[in-house]
Order: sequence, then structure tokens, then C-alpha cells
Amino acid sequence: NKKDKIIDVLILGLDNSGKTTITKRMFNEDVDSVSPTVGFQITPFEYGGYSLSIWDVGGQTTLRAFWGGFYDSTDVVLWVIDGLSTERLEESFSQLNEKIVQQDRLAGIYLLVVINKCDLIPEDKREPLKQSVSRALKLQERLDDDHWHLSLVSGKTGEGVDELLKWVVSRDY
Ligand code: GDP
Repeated sequence: NKKDKIIDVLILGLDNSGKTTITKRMFNEDVDSVSPTVGFQITPFEYGGYSLSIWDVGGQTTLRAFWGGFYDSTDVVLWVIDGLSTERLEESFSQLNEKIVQQDRLAGIYLLVVINKCDLIPEDKREPLKQSVSRALKLQERLDDDHWHLSLVSGKTGEGVDELLKWVVSRDY
């Protein structure tokens, strides 16, 4: 029974991209009291009758060495990109490739890539940004269609966050 399964979501990305804000938004915590991640936390909560565990490890360079320790138990990687930090897009893309897409231990993983902070991205810039991220990552060439998803969200306002949870619980585990 699918509903008996705990879905383990590993939320990763560069520091300051908004992982903690999105995690808290997912279980409706006060997002104004968020401080940058300094370690890992496990946050189990219910969504649509499912149990979800969010693992927020932290994206600082010193913490990236710990990411691999979580891979074996991970069902979904949620990769957060700071949509405002254009000067760090390349670093985010290369980390995603190196630490996630090219990892044999993560073969078959579900990958959810989000461009965060869309509340500060003008409406007419959103779709072009999404297209350019999509082109840069080439995920359609590397993963099965139903195994990855790219969307714009705002952890701050909650825009798009519900869609993420719906996507996560509608995969096959
Ligand atoms: P983490 O280091 O990836 O866990 O990032 P945090 O969740 O701590 O967020 C880093 C900073 O970005 C904080 O100042 C947040 O308030 C801010 N932030 C996070 N998400 C959003 C968002 O969707 N919109 C805006 N405008 N700011 C955000």
C-alpha cells in the first residue's frame, strides 16, 4: 500500500537558495522566522494522506560532503535554485550535475528542480528563465519524462509549493 510508505525527500541546492524557507512552507510553519540552514533536520509531516520526510542538509561548501550519506534512502531530490542569484546559476548547475544527475547511487531517483524566489521575478521574465534553465540542465536528454520536473516557486509567498507536493505524492514508489 502506497499510503504506508514514508516518502523521503532530500532538499538540496546552494546555500541561501531558500531550502529552509520552502521546507517550512511545505508544512506551513512561520516562514519569517527562518535562518540559514546550519545542519540537517528531519521533518516528517502528512500530505494528502501520505507521510513525507524532508531532509534539509544545508548547501554550504563544508556541508556538501555529507550529501552522499543520504542518497541510499532518498526517493526524491528537490533541487533549489535561487532565481535571483544569476551569478551563481553556473555553480548550481554544475553541483546538480556532479552531485545528483551523475551519481550512480541515485539512478532512478525522482528529481524536482525548482527556481525559487519567483515573487521577485517579473512575470515576463519567468518563462524565459525557466526555458534557459531547462536548456542548460538538459534533463530531458538524461532522465525519463516522469522522473523530473522543473517549476518556479516562492517559498516566501507559497506560490507553486502545493504543486511540488502534489507532484511528489503522484510518483510511483
Ligand atoms: P537556505 O540556506 O537554502 O536554507 O535558504 P533560506 O531558506 O535560509 O533562505 C535564504 C534567504 O532567502 C532568506 O533571507 C530568505 O528569507 C530568502 N528567501 C527564501 N525564499 C524566498 C522567496 O521565495 N522569495 C524571497 N523574496 N526571498 C526568499
